[in-house]
Amino acid sequence: CGIVGYIGESDAKEILLKGLERLEYRGYDSAGIAVRNTDGVTVFKEKGRIADLRAEVDLNVEAVTGIGHTRWATHGVPNHVNAHPHQSTTERFTLVHNGVIENYHHLQRDYLEGVEMQSDTDTEIIVQLIERFSKQGLSTREAFTKTLELLKGSYALALLDAEEAQTIYVAKNKSPLLVGLGEEFNVVASDAMAMLQVTDQFVELMDKEIVIVNKESVEIYTLEGERIHRQPFTAEIDM
Ligand code: GLU
Repeated sequence: CGIVGYIGESDAKEILLKGLERLEYRGYDSAGIAVRNTDGVTVFKEKGRIADLRAEVDLNVEAVTGIGHTRWATHGVPNHVNAHPHQSTTERFTLVHNGVIENYHHLQRDYLEGVEMQSDTDTEIIVQLIERFSKQGLSTREAFTKTLELLKGSYALALLDAEEAQTIYVAKNKSPLLVGLGEEFNVVASDAMAMLQVTDQFVELMDKEIVIVNKESVEIYTLEGERIHRQPFTAEIDM
């Protein structure tokens, strides 16, 4: 029921866990984070409370980039396997998703024949599609765009590519998602509340935009590739 993301220079796992704790009031049945460092992407996830997730997270994994999720299960029971983040078969791509993909069954049938699913979620279809299109030769941005064009339903998404340290890919449709701006870092959040700990400058996202979040920049494009410039606003919420 909530999404967070961080890319910068500080300890990503602590910022993500704090962000998820701030979203706890919305209700959830499981939670997880994925962090990226030179060893690749590491996923920690748990059914139950953020406190349980926190106990699972290996404090020795140092990372300055990551994404996090609290889940309110719609497809697949609440358990460890169905908790987010979800990874593609090769583990190159790692995704968190809020919302419901209405046509996931058709997409699986039409594009993912032979791909063995690890979970019962609609979400896994998205990350497997990205990998499928990437294997066909598309760049990650192209594969993400093509996948978004196929999805029907609601989503807030944050994606990591293990082969690309500098970027979190983000998109939304009918589910809330914002980017937050900082000095030498940027963040992603389904609710500004989650990231007020690090910034009060946020940029609104519109449905079906593709957003490339780096440490130093946030670039927003239409699915057709046209760059959008949008001013940040100051979030004024009591902590
Ligand atoms: N439909 C996804 C699932 O069941 C995401 C649910 C959510 O928004 O947390 O895993």
